[in-house]
Amino acid sequence: MPEKRTGRELPAASAPVHASTPLPESAPTPGPMNPAPSAPSARIPTSRPAASQAPPSIPGAEVGDSLPSVPLQYLKGRGAQFNPKNRFLKNETVREHIESIDDWMIPNPETQYLEETAKGIVNKVDSPDVGMWYSMNPYQGCEHGCTYCYARNVHEYWGYSAGLDFERKIIVKKNAPELLRKFLMNPKWECVPISLSGNTDCYQPAEKKFGITRKLLETCLEFNQPVGMITKNAGILRDKDLLVKMAKRRLVSILVSITSFDEDLRQLMEPRTTTAKQRLRVIRELSAEGVRMGVMLGPMIPGLNEHEMQRIMKAAADQGATFSAYTFIRLNGAIKLIFHDWLYKNFPDRADKVWHLIEASHDGKVNDSRWGVRMRGEGNIAQLVAQQYARYTQKYGLNAEEWELDTTKFMRPGGQIRLF
Ligand code: SF4
Repeated sequence: MPEKRTGRELPAASAPVHASTPLPESAPTPGPMNPAPSAPSARIPTSRPAASQAPPSIPGAEVGDSLPSVPLQYLKGRGAQFNPKNRFLKNETVREHIESIDDWMIPNPETQYLEETAKGIVNKVDSPDVGMWYSMNPYQGCEHGCTYCYARNVHEYWGYSAGLDFERKIIVKKNAPELLRKFLMNPKWECVPISLSGNTDCYQPAEKKFGITRKLLETCLEFNQPVGMITKNAGILRDKDLLVKMAKRRLVSILVSITSFDEDLRQLMEPRTTTAKQRLRVIRELSAEGVRMGVMLGPMIPGLNEHEMQRIMKAAADQGATFSAYTFIRLNGAIKLIFHDWLYKNFPDRADKVWHLIEASHDGKVNDSRWGVRMRGEGNIAQLVAQQYARYTQKYGLNAEEWELDTTKFMRPGGQIRLF
């Protein structure tokens, strides 16, 4: 059963970040207006590192960086392997296992769904380099568990860790459809497209259970409210009926995020997403029904998947994608520790090389908050990726046409179509 939560337990919801899109880190900075969460979170005991398993050092480590104990078991089906400290919690509760017995392993419990009575569902996005103004996210946290996910850091604002908590403690905004209706009924709302999945994937496994995304789409269709969507889950095909209706009114545009055709890599890097093959099926089935479909290559990681760019773009175009976007890996906040830990455990043979290539693409660091640069990187490798992207975009006819969602049909029930 889902666990009940009340809004009082949580800090104010923030403007979201999408994980795999060129999206902002626009959650509020804790301060007088946006107090950081003060409730301590119980941290699951970490495994005792074996004597021979000294944690690797972090190349380019900064003050405050520290690696966790190395678990004796790898948690299959999870991206992060530990819970890094929440930057905003003053206190932290750690359950120490004082008996020191041999079965002191990190547990891998089922995903928890935490029902939240949200105060709002549509968030304004302030970052200038993300290509969206508003977004809505029915779920916070994402069970897909992509190791590089930018949205992990946002989980800290909710009082949780960006690591395992992000993929195991999913906040469910059950009242999201009512909130959206109220929002759209407000006469002050001047229709512009809203990004559905601006921060986390709205078709993550929770959607099968709760169906909130479908209800949001129904509301958008009723109001003729246009939406942009992005997903890594073939579960979106369940809503084909609604999406086709919206497409006929030019109310929807969808990016399917594909990062690799290497199934071994996907299982490690994006453990609970659907396969690239299934994601291509999404592009094929929806584009065949007239839905505008695109492919998102996010993120490109030098030494891991950047060499697959051409193959992914070609395959997506062959299946009916007409537009594309990409991001270059950056490792801000807690993602730096999570990704480093994951990289060195899974790819010890090339981890150093990958890490240094990422550093070389962000002015000697792996994190990057510079607007305009952060999503693309800089330097030789990032430039090469950008050049390849431009070349293949042209070669496969992606982004060839100007296309916009239609905001002119927006209408409140019982009202008139907006006049321009
Ligand atoms: S699918 Fe989920 S975990 Fe993966 S990048 Fe998107 S929001 Fe993050």
